[in-house]
Amino acid sequence: ASGYTLMRDPRHNKGVAFTERERDAHYLRGLLPPIVLSQELQEKRIMHMLRQYKVPLQRYMAMMDLQERNERLFYKLLIDNVEELLPVVYTPTVGEACQKYGSIFRRPQGLYISLKEKGKILEVLKNWPERSVQVIVVTDGERILGLGDLGCQGMGIPVGKLSLYTALGGVRPSACLPITIDVGTNNEKLLNDEFYIGLRQRRATGQEYAELLHEFMSAVKQNYGEKVLIQFEDFANHNAFELLARYSSSHLVFNDDIQGTASVVLAGLLAALKLLGGTLADHRFLFLGAGEAGTGIAELIALEMSKQTGNPIEENRKKIWLVDSKGLIVDSRKHSLQHFKKPWAHEHEPVSKLVDAVKAIKPTVLIGTSGVGKQFTREVVEAMASINEKPLIMALSNPTSQAECTAEEAYTWSEGRAIFASGSPFDPFEYDGKVFVPSQANNAYIFPGFGLGVIMSGAIRVHDDMLLAASEALAAQVTGEHFKKGLIYPPFSDIRKISANIAAKVAAKAYELGLASHLPQPEDLVKYAENCMYSPVYRTYR
Ligand code: NAP
Ligand code: MN
Repeated sequence: ASGYTLMRDPRHNKGVAFTERERDAHYLRGLLPPIVLSQELQEKRIMHMLRQYKVPLQRYMAMMDLQERNERLFYKLLIDNVEELLPVVYTPTVGEACQKYGSIFRRPQGLYISLKEKGKILEVLKNWPERSVQVIVVTDGERILGLGDLGCQGMGIPVGKLSLYTALGGVRPSACLPITIDVGTNNEKLLNDEFYIGLRQRRATGQEYAELLHEFMSAVKQNYGEKVLIQFEDFANHNAFELLARYSSSHLVFNDDIQGTASVVLAGLLAALKLLGGTLADHRFLFLGAGEAGTGIAELIALEMSKQTGNPIEENRKKIWLVDSKGLIVDSRKHSLQHFKKPWAHEHEPVSKLVDAVKAIKPTVLIGTSGVGKQFTREVVEAMASINEKPLIMALSNPTSQAECTAEEAYTWSEGRAIFASGSPFDPFEYDGKVFVPSQANNAYIFPGFGLGVIMSGAIRVHDDMLLAASEALAAQVTGEHFKKGLIYPPFSDIRKISANIAAKVAAKAYELGLASHLPQPEDLVKYAENCMYSPVYRTYR
């Protein structure tokens, strides 16, 4: 290949880091300025440039440009500056990017599969240049983050999630495939926008929707085999539950909004037991919000209790209560509940207000997954603090404005006794001379390592026990030093090491369950995981 082509291939381009010898050997002389920089200096230069942009979307666009120009440098930046750049390539900035996707993207990334491609999805997959795909992240754009229906512009989500698979979990970029399925949108603003990039029609539902999805699922299996991980992302909750139920016994599927969330929250709870005392089954849980996140977490907690105690799951579910938009979920509401809520309809008189539910149920742990901000009022937090020596409060709704309460509120209203975690990040807070560091229950702790574990073992199905293994592995990374600060998650800066440990435990479980196909099982799975992980360091071209 000519030097010119080499420079324009983002997978191989090194920019001014091409050495003198490479410039001679690959016809690059004169195509670059005389300077030769190390990758470290290139990184320093771009970080300096990024920090000068004050508008987050500008940083996002600069990162996307870099990804399209020099892939290894993009990942080097992301890995070395993960805490700073995660909010740029993923939430919250990716949300804004999706809202404006039509006008900011230059080169399409990933595959678009719309109703126009019905009957031809296998051909579409064959147009993708990479043969050995290991992870697909797919969305239909109906519930992008907390922003609702963004239709085809949801593509930013699979693209962003997969860059985290690579940066945090070490899955090779060439093995990652972002896909957006476009069945229309019900977003009036997009339908009336002359520059909207997707199908200009209302969402297909029912059989038409199910058929397209079914063709997609079959085509993926036919084209890539049994071992490609399909992650469903940001589907509206009725479809999310249904797709997972329909395909989990025939495909390797994972829903991050349901299962990834459940696993990361359970990890925080397992770690918190060291601060709270007792076993999981000694605690009582109350949720505000009974959707994908809430019921997903609740079910995994009940499952872990069963593992620990040997008690049937039905019995453990009775320790977990949920409140939805109509109040406490109780048996008298059973006939009108969506099926994923039914297991949580326990015997109790109706209660409509959260604070009354807290007083009636007396939970030790309060978890917010409603998507509605400011619901953990002073009254609610004070009630938790009067029942518990150390109330555990998780305000998981995103973005920050939707958090059920702030870190400051949780610490102040509980007089410094609360253990607090949230979905969106909060700064450390000083109360009564002590600094409290809030934890962030970020899904990015789990899914990259989980995916790596699935891939490296060649697992052909996701089993709930693999999610439990991931939670336990993450909880085990929290040390005494972290607990002292009130943290129930380890620092994110260690994420590559954390991911390797999660991957090892997930893979071990897949082998134990007979779901792994990469045989024989490697002896040291942590080491094996580390060796599998993609490194963004430049290669030398001879
Ligand atoms: P979802 O499936 O739409 O569920 C929302 C639930 O909240 C529904 O059960 C809904 O009740 C209930 N709800 C809405 N308004 C309420 C109110 N005023 N009072 C009581 N309940 C109310 O959404 P989701 O996917 O579970 O996500 C929920 C939130 O969790 C989002 O803000 C998301 O950002 C956050 N989340 C955080 C993490 C994390 O921290 N790692 C991970 C995933 C999600 P009905 O069922 O009656 O409509
Ligand atoms: Mn999501």
